[in-house]
Amino acid sequence: MNRPSEHRKRLPLYAKILIGMALGVALGLLGASLHFEQFIHHWIAPWGTIFLRLLKLIAVPLVLVSLIIGVVNLKDVRNLSKIGLKTILIYICTTIIAVSIGLTAVSLMKPGRYFPHDKQSEFMQRYEQTVAQKESAMQEVQDQSPLQFLVDIVPENAFHAFGDNSKMLQIIFFALLFGIALVCVGQSKTGSIVRFFNQLNLVLLKIIDFIMAFAPIGVLALMADLVVSYSGDVGIFSSLGMYALTVTVALAVIVFIVYPLILKLFTKKTWKDFIKAAFPVQMLAFSTSSSAATLPLTMERTQKHLGVSEQVSSFVLPVGVTINMDGTSCYQAVAAVFLAQVLGLDLSFGQMLLILATATISSIGTPGIPGGSIVMLMIVLDSVGIPVEGLALILGIDRPLDMLRTVVNVTGDMTVASVVDDGKREAVP
Ligand code: ASP
Repeated sequence: MNRPSEHRKRLPLYAKILIGMALGVALGLLGASLHFEQFIHHWIAPWGTIFLRLLKLIAVPLVLVSLIIGVVNLKDVRNLSKIGLKTILIYICTTIIAVSIGLTAVSLMKPGRYFPHDKQSEFMQRYEQTVAQKESAMQEVQDQSPLQFLVDIVPENAFHAFGDNSKMLQIIFFALLFGIALVCVGQSKTGSIVRFFNQLNLVLLKIIDFIMAFAPIGVLALMADLVVSYSGDVGIFSSLGMYALTVTVALAVIVFIVYPLILKLFTKKTWKDFIKAAFPVQMLAFSTSSSAATLPLTMERTQKHLGVSEQVSSFVLPVGVTINMDGTSCYQAVAAVFLAQVLGLDLSFGQMLLILATATISSIGTPGIPGGSIVMLMIVLDSVGIPVEGLALILGIDRPLDMLRTVVNVTGDMTVASVVDDGKREAVP
């Protein structure tokens, strides 16, 4: 006979996360209406922060270990350059498609027309300080050499790289170097190191299971805190509703049309199997607004549930978190054109192409953290001569849109991992 605890265990991860989210929203709404916001900030929110920290805690060791194993398992190191090239090319293609969809949606729906102009100065005032901060961050990025991104990939100290989650490309660089060296030295001399990493990987995957057991509480806390923090800003939706709708429609086209099409054309995986594997990842991305924090779960689900090989997923996914942001790039295109519409600036076809190029490039430099794309959006705005102060008009509604674009970002990474894996394996139920 089944004991109640066995029943509980059978509840799928996505259901647990959904329940956590729903309870979090309910608690947040209750907190806002009965005014116990402080209680939520002080006693509930920290559990969300602990959950995020746990996810980040496991990300660096997981990427390092699984990528080293991935390289060692490649039959031929030359395959690595094939996988690398294919991954980067597909990432660039999906990003360009995403930006084009954003540009099309915003040109057709023209959300700028619906923005009440009397709100303009109010929003400008309210977000003046935040815009100024982001502006100085943008200046720093713009002053760099165009090759700075290459310099940044090479760590000068491996332990500093391991100590900083935002240095994912440096960690990938080290892992590739280490893995290739292991292969070159030869299995007969390095067998025990390889065995050690394989066993370490099993331990790390177990830790992810532990962390995910905490996920419902974590997302409950994150959502409750978010609802309480944003409850005062509900009015903003009426001014920016059409803009939010445009972003949502564009993102929905990517998730429900583009990705299924890509999967159908280039893999053997069905959309149903894909979504089964991806749904918990999407829910986690939605509640954390961070594709970097979601990475451990993305890796686990892509390997175990989508059946993508370790060689491919351990490389494609961490790289994707750093450089592939379809949701973000699509959003940047919509935001830039929306602001141009509100400010009465007519964009030429050439400027649209410039947005296509800068949104593609700047999404590559966007960190996978909440609001990571704001500074990069400024670069897009600046490139076509839209005043960066315009950002103040959309900051108030950024978080919910961030949650949606992060879902697209992680879904894109999983889609590309499936394509690169070439659909050789069937999805594992
Ligand atoms: N929050 C997004 C992510 O983590 C980045 C962004 O668009 O701000 O993928």
